[in-house]
Parts: sequence; C-alpha cells; structure tokens
Amino acid sequence: MTTDADVIIAGAGPAGSLAGYELATRGVSVLILEKSSFPRYKVCGAGLTYKILREIPFDVSSLLETKIHSIVFSSGFRDCFTRSSPEPMLFCANRDKFDDFLLHKALEAGARVIHGAKVMDVKQDKDFVTVATRDGSFTSKLVIGADGASSAVARSAGLRDNILPGLAWEAEIMADPAIVRAFSQTVFLDWGSFPGGYGWVFPKGDHFSIGVGGPASLSKWMMPYYQKLLEYLELGAIETISLKSWPIPVRIKKSPFHNGRVLVAGDAAGLTDPLTGEGIYYAVRSGILAAKSCHAYLCAETPSLESYTTSVNEELMQELLDANRIKHLFNTVPLKIHHFVRDNDRAWKAFVRILRGERWYADVPAGFGKWKVLWGLACLFSKVVSDYKERRFSKQGFK
Ligand SMILES: Cc1cc2nc3c(=O)[nH]c(=O)nc-3n(C[C@H](O)[C@H](O)[C@H](O)COP(=O)(O)OP(=O)(O)OC[C@H]3O[C@@H](n4cnc5c(N)ncnc54)[C@H](O)[C@@H]3O)c2cc1C
Repeated sequence: MTTDADVIIAGAGPAGSLAGYELATRGVSVLILEKSSFPRYKVCGAGLTYKILREIPFDVSSLLETKIHSIVFSSGFRDCFTRSSPEPMLFCANRDKFDDFLLHKALEAGARVIHGAKVMDVKQDKDFVTVATRDGSFTSKLVIGADGASSAVARSAGLRDNILPGLAWEAEIMADPAIVRAFSQTVFLDWGSFPGGYGWVFPKGDHFSIGVGGPASLSKWMMPYYQKLLEYLELGAIETISLKSWPIPVRIKKSPFHNGRVLVAGDAAGLTDPLTGEGIYYAVRSGILAAKSCHAYLCAETPSLESYTTSVNEELMQELLDANRIKHLFNTVPLKIHHFVRDNDRAWKAFVRILRGERWYADVPAGFGKWKVLWGLACLFSKVVSDYKERRFSKQGFK
C-alpha cells in the first residue's frame, strides 16, 4: 500500500517541528498536520532556558526578544531581593514568531504541512497507521503525536496514564514604556504564595508576559493570585492584550511513550517540569529523540520504537522526577529556600547552572555525597507535607 508519508506528525509546536526537521534532514518523508494556521498565538511565557538554544540545531538568535541577567525574587510578595548573573540565564521570545520559524526550518528541510488539519483519532494496522482528521484520512508507517496538552493522538494510542493536570494563566500586558525599558533584562518571580505554583513577569521587548501557574487542583485560587500580582507590581498604564488559561500536563511516573507505530512527544507526552512549568526544552528534546527512533526503525536498525520509550524515561523522566522531589521540598520550607537562594552564593550559582543546562536536577541529590540517605528521607517526608499543604490550600486559599 502507498502511504501519504513515512511519518505523520500531529502538531507543529516545538516538539512537532523539531521532529519534522530532524526526520526531513535525514531524508525521511514527513507530513505535519496542524490544526491552526501559522503564525498562531500560543498561551506561554516563552521563557527559553539556555539549554533549549543548545539543543536546537540551527540559529534562533534573531527571535530572542530579551536576554535575562537578573531575577527579582519575592516570597508571597515579601522579602524581595535581586540576584544577577554575568551570563544570560534565560531568553524571552514570542511564541507566534518562534514556532513559525521552527516550522519553516522543518519545511526548508523537506517536510510538508497541512494547516487547518485537526487530528481526531489514529488507528493502527499491521503495517501502517491511519490518521483521521475532520476533513479526511491520511496514512503513514509511523505517527508522532506532538499535538500538545489535550493530545488526540495520545488519547487514541492509550498513552495518557500517569499525568497530573497543571494549569496556568498568562497575559500579554502593555505597561509604562519607562518601566518596560528598566526591566528589559529582569524576570520577576514570586514563589511560596501557594503550594506548587508561582507567579512571573517576563519582559518581551515592548511589553510584559505576566502569569501564574500551579496544580490544577488549585485553579480557583489562581485568578485571585493573578490580581494580587498585578496590584503588587504597580506597572502603570496597563493594557491587557490577552489573558488566557491553558493546561500544563505533568507526567509523574516513568511510562511507555510509544504504542506500536505511534509515539508521543512534548506536552502530548506530559513532559513538563513540575517545579517550573518549563516545557519547551522537553518538547524540543523529545521531538529530536522521537525522530532518531523513527529513523532507526525505518532503516531497519531497530525492530521497534522501544528505544524511544527507553531514552525518554532514562534521560527526561529521570530529570522530571527529580524536579518533582525538589518541588515537594520547596513546598515544605519555601521561606527557608527563598533565604538560602538570597544568602548562599553556591545555592544561587547552582540555580543559574540548572537554568543554563550546565547542571541537572539529578546533581542535587548527588551533591549530598555520603549523606544521600538523608536526601531520600527528606524527599519522603516533604512529599507528605507538600501534599497536605496543597490539599489545605485548595480548601482555604489565601488567609
Ligand atoms: C501559561 C503558560 C506559560 C508557559 N511558559 C513557559 C515558559 O516560559 N517556558 C517554557 O519552556 N515552557 C512554558 N510553558 C510550557 C510550554 O508552552 C509547552 O510545554 C510547550 O509549548 C510544549 O510544546 P509542544 O510542541 O509539545 O506543544 P504545543 O506548543 O502546544 O504545540 C502543539 C501544536 O499542536 C497543534 N494541535 C493541537 N491539537 C491538535 C490536533 N488535534 N491536530 C493537529 N494539531 C493540533 C496546536 O495548534 C499546536 O500548534 C508554558 C505553558 C503555559 C500554559
């Protein structure tokens, strides 16, 4: 049977476009089915950690609106302090331009795209997969589900287990131009206001991205928190261009990331950092890993796509599980960690290195050396406290 492509990719976000780019560069025929018309708006802070830039195999520097050298921290809008780094820790972009650029790179490499094609369902046969969209069906040997947080591909392939729902609200805000200029290299971060979540301000060149996020179980408290954040910031002459919420799926256990001829990547796979909500790095990295496994399978180098599940679990899930442990620790003693980052240069440098991808969350327990058993106990204890605090907050909210 002739197919429409060797690999169909659902979704042209960072996971889909990077997978498409990697496959097309290796000479594989790729069809991307994307439900929107690009460029499209995506609810996202679009803070790009340095490690994302290292992972993307082409230059994206023209898309970086701002370079972040400083972070202003507050804990529940108190105890404010600023920490800086001579090296940029983070970059901010606009997702409409960023995603459009990544998609164009995939197309230049030889991938094809159909816009307005919403994938509804995938069905597997012995030798190929049929992808149903609202306007017709397509067939391929393999399918990558990169269709985001509410992935239809992951649902049809039975790959949605072990995912906790998170939620974030984000607004693009025009403020007093003098304030926008003054904070063009600075991120504001309020943590410790509610368990498992935080509020942020990212400078985006001519405006700010302001948002709050955390576990979906606390969603009813997010708008009041967002209002508090705005009042606290006093940004002057505010015009809100958009204010929207969007799910953040968080995978909490090692799991299968493929089923037969179907793989899932990025948000579709629940690959977001439970501590920070960062997802673009994991989308890019899992898209690249998915492409490598598909290529190896199509070249008959491997008998199945198992290598994908193995690499995502070993490399990405291990990191996300460590992030989850650190999140529980933070929820247990938020003010202590806030002060530790303020007062301890080693702690601050470790924080910067993790953002830059020079160190990983896994290095935190390793730093305990022969006292690693203490780390294990602290993790067990803090999970209990953190879960309790989350449940209590969901009932009581802000006092
Ligand atoms: C408020 C908020 C702030 C965030 N801030 C940051 C941040 O600062 N830094 C960071 O790293 N991460 C951030 N994230 C997370 C980040 O946005 C995601 O992790 C990232 O976009 C995942 O990329 P993706 O390619 O997997 O999915 P997406 O970027 O969601 O792309 C999925 C694509 O699939 C398309 N699609 C969806 N359904 C279908 C379908 N059925 N058929 C065809 N196409 C479909 C969509 O139109 C979209 O183009 C934030 C998330 C939220 C909600």
